Amino acid sequence: MRTAVLGGGIAGLTAAYRLARRGVDVTLFEATDKLGGLGGWFKYDGYRLDKWYHVLLDSDAYLLGLIAELGLRDRVDWAETTMGFIVNNKHYPFNTAVDLLKFGALKPLDRIRTGMAALYITKLLRNGRPLDNEPAHTWLVRIFGRRVYESIWEPLLIAKFGDMRDRVPAYWVWNTLNREKNGSQEVKGYVRGGNAVIVDRLVEEIEKAGGRIRLSTPVTSISSNADGATLDVADEAVHFDNVVCTLPFSRLNKIADKALLSKIPQSSIDYQGVVNVMLVTRERLSRHYWTAVVRSDLPFQGVVETTHVVRPDAIGNRHLLYLMNYCRPDSDLYKRSDSLQIRDAIDGLGRLYPDFKEDSVADAFVFRAPFVEPVWPCGYLNARPQSQVIDTRVFLATTAQAYPMVTSWNTSVKLADDAISAMLGRESAVVSASTDAAALGNAAASIVNGAGTAPIA
Ligand SMILES: Cc1cc2nc3c(=O)[nH]c(=O)nc-3n(C[C@H](O)[C@H](O)[C@H](O)COP(=O)(O)OP(=O)(O)OC[C@H]3O[C@@H](n4cnc5c(N)ncnc54)[C@H](O)[C@@H]3O)c2cc1C
Repeated sequence: MRTAVLGGGIAGLTAAYRLARRGVDVTLFEATDKLGGLGGWFKYDGYRLDKWYHVLLDSDAYLLGLIAELGLRDRVDWAETTMGFIVNNKHYPFNTAVDLLKFGALKPLDRIRTGMAALYITKLLRNGRPLDNEPAHTWLVRIFGRRVYESIWEPLLIAKFGDMRDRVPAYWVWNTLNREKNGSQEVKGYVRGGNAVIVDRLVEEIEKAGGRIRLSTPVTSISSNADGATLDVADEAVHFDNVVCTLPFSRLNKIADKALLSKIPQSSIDYQGVVNVMLVTRERLSRHYWTAVVRSDLPFQGVVETTHVVRPDAIGNRHLLYLMNYCRPDSDLYKRSDSLQIRDAIDGLGRLYPDFKEDSVADAFVFRAPFVEPVWPCGYLNARPQSQVIDTRVFLATTAQAYPMVTSWNTSVKLADDAISAMLGRESAVVSASTDAAALGNAAASIVNGAGTAPIA
């Protein structure tokens, strides 16, 4: 049974790993010269640094199961982390009930309402499914009140979905708020050496089991019927019995023939892209892992300092700051030149953090990704694509199927497992989410700990 896997991000690598281990003749095609996709890295002074900030949560059962299976469990470092808010240029911690009570960006009564609303969402409202048909903004206004919505929630939704925020269902917010709720303290994890270490192990296992990985080999067309699929690869038409596609739909749309596309629901879903300024610094900036920035003199939606989780001594005692803007790939914000993006970041940090000094920046980089976050429409739960495209031998494991989970490595591993189960049958599928996962860490959640609202990052 010859199977092709399209895409060398975590979904494609997991799929190829599962297939190769089941004795399937598998070839993975990756368009670029690197594996890792959105979880990719670059070499810096002998270290491998993430292009886009990445951490694990202890609720990432599928990914943690895979990590344990690959023998990397002992390489996971966990750290307690916190989040902050900068609103109108003022800094607030946002982690405990006391933080919420002191959160000067809201009126006192609104703070109490926010705390109650958060408790309701995370403790009482156990079934979020009916929220699939309700837009997030109407639900959030109802639960938190308009002032809190406009002060906190709307900027967070804009940060993720931009001008398409009003389409997103409340169910997605409910899931995001409940995702990190595994205990009483926010905890994030990181595999020492980064995603690169996971990818290296997957490659090793795939090749050991006879699978092939072809880099710099974009698939340029795909068609399929009930007997198999044909791909155009390197100017050659190649037949496979099965194909696992992990490409975002915006990419799949460009290569799938009309007949195949017509069978894929939601294939025209919109995506938000992201532009990240990454600063390698000599000093720590903030005490928070993540700081959301709202209506302030820093033209970015947030600052993530991953070296609260990534150990600075493992990367030459550097600190890593990521300043992000989620936006459409055709927007001016996305296309703004690298030098202006970097200037905006450094000047803005100087305005908001009195101790920040430009000369502590050792290096600055800009990374863009055009298709990161599908913009979910209401009612997506019943409309989202299934693992197998009907009447074909194409199996999907793409971010467009993540809903209602957040897009993450954990979700992509699950989607790959689902696709392989659909292809090989449930009984032969590998169940990756080992119970070890839960034991790997403690907890997470800025939300319930008191502060009430949650990261949408
Ligand atoms: C800023 C940012 C922060 C994030 N933070 C986290 C985090 O903290 N934790 C977390 O778990 N997740 C995080 N994520 C999300 C996570 O990175 C993604 O959800 C995940 O990497 C998606 O993996 P994937 O394999 O499904 O898709 P992708 O990584 O997009 O992989 C698709 C692959 O297909 C390849 N491809 C495209 N076209 C073709 C073609 N024609 N032929 C062959 N190959 C092709 C691409 O080059 C790519 O390698 C973050 C993402 C971003 C952008």
